[in-house]
Amino acid sequence: MKTLNDIRSTFLGYFEKQGHSIQPSSPLVPRNDPTLMFANSGMVQFKNLFTGVETRDYSRATTAQKCVRAGGKHNDLDNVGYTARHHTFFEMLGNFSFGDYFKAEAIAFSWELITKELGIDPNRLYVTIYHTDDEAAEIWKKVAGLPDDRIIRIATDDNFWMMGPTGPCGPCSEIFYDHGDHIWGGPPGSPEEDGDRFVEIWNLVFMQYEQFEDGSRKALPNQSIDTGMGIERVAALLQGTNDNYATDLMRNLIEASANASSSDPDGPGKTHHRVIADHLRSTSFLIADGVMPSNDGRGYVLRRIMRRAMRHAHLLGLKDPLMHRLVPELVRQMGGAYPELGQAQSLITETLLLEETRFKQTLDRGLKLLDDELKDLPAGADLSGEAAFKLYDTYGFPVDLTQDALREQDRKVDLDGFNAAMDAQKAKARAAWSGSGEAADATVWFDVAEKSGTTDFLGYDTETAEGQI
Ligand code: ATP
Ligand code: MG
Ligand code: MG
Ligand code: MG
Repeated sequence: MKTLNDIRSTFLGYFEKQGHSIQPSSPLVPRNDPTLMFANSGMVQFKNLFTGVETRDYSRATTAQKCVRAGGKHNDLDNVGYTARHHTFFEMLGNFSFGDYFKAEAIAFSWELITKELGIDPNRLYVTIYHTDDEAAEIWKKVAGLPDDRIIRIATDDNFWMMGPTGPCGPCSEIFYDHGDHIWGGPPGSPEEDGDRFVEIWNLVFMQYEQFEDGSRKALPNQSIDTGMGIERVAALLQGTNDNYATDLMRNLIEASANASSSDPDGPGKTHHRVIADHLRSTSFLIADGVMPSNDGRGYVLRRIMRRAMRHAHLLGLKDPLMHRLVPELVRQMGGAYPELGQAQSLITETLLLEETRFKQTLDRGLKLLDDELKDLPAGADLSGEAAFKLYDTYGFPVDLTQDALREQDRKVDLDGFNAAMDAQKAKARAAWSGSGEAADATVWFDVAEKSGTTDFLGYDTETAEGQI
């Protein structure tokens, strides 16, 4: 069986043989980009090499990059527990060319790696290309011998990547694996593409143009390559499953969660264990990279993920905090590839324990309030914004946690009402301040606080640098 650790070393080893420099993952908090919440793809640490602002002593690199997609434009938080292929934390394997090789080599490398080195059955592979990219279609035919009906032309932005409103951009090609007709889903571009049957495993970006402010594009003198492959998705298919959560590493975390809560990993609490295993990884890696739970910015995203996991632990019927007890298993699984995890083990454990102990004090009461509210609501009706706000304000329920709880019952939060209640409270706080005789200063402070996202953490929604799309 190929484990996750085997796949990582096969990938990096293959590209090293092809003249790539193996570079470490960058931290989850991007050093070079304050507007990006978390590293969400392999290219983030190389942005300045693609734009030509910086050069290094290598023009080919390969990495296994830690990624978190739980906020900002790329947010897979709501997919966890619902799809078989999304995590909030995952590892992206990538190869990069900075003005060195281009499309033909990138496609040939990817095909050789997946069909020869990893031994994936070529008959199950499909690729997408940008609809006008005839060059890519020709290369796929030549290199892989793929018939026309397995080279799918896509006209949407899904297959055209841009670093930002201006700068490097170009067409993409995504490689899909067909898990078979026993699983619901359709090929990319079809109405059923969101099912779990056809799973995207690798995204190749061909940085071919530079886009200018007026929308015009010019061919880049130095064309570049950026790719990203999800290690958990490849592990799943090599281990004969379409379910990322059934792979060696995730399964061990799920079993740790089941053992620690004396419950069945595949019983009625199955979804809880999956969410807990996923959130354990993202929260632990974020803490190891220096993020601490707080009420704004990155720290609030961390807190939201933690609290969501803690609600799921609570639903398993646990009286005592759970998350911190799972850290040793995570370090056993991933500490080899990521030593920072072992180094931060006690910080992670203490932070999880402290947060869970604190949140437990209000979680029970909050959930009781939620139950009471729901009892009187007709089936399918939304939870009032006021109730959601009370859960947020009094019981520390991030609104997405409440939404997650309601989704299980096919209900939603009245978000307009929630925002109105939030605004009303802010206005009250302002009024209280103006009574203190410091009105002018206080107004400025509140304005700054709101604009900087201190109170409503919207400050990161305008990301300028995107990874794979
Ligand atoms: P999808 O369409 O399935 O959401 P994506 O197009 O958003 O994937 P990319 O941005 O192209 O993904 O990222 C490159 C690769 O990283 C994907 O081909 C996939 O293998 C992997 N990947 C992306 N998001 C996730 C995730 N949330 N969990 C696990 N793997 C992921
Ligand atoms: Mg996605
Ligand atoms: Mg995609
Ligand atoms: Mg993609």
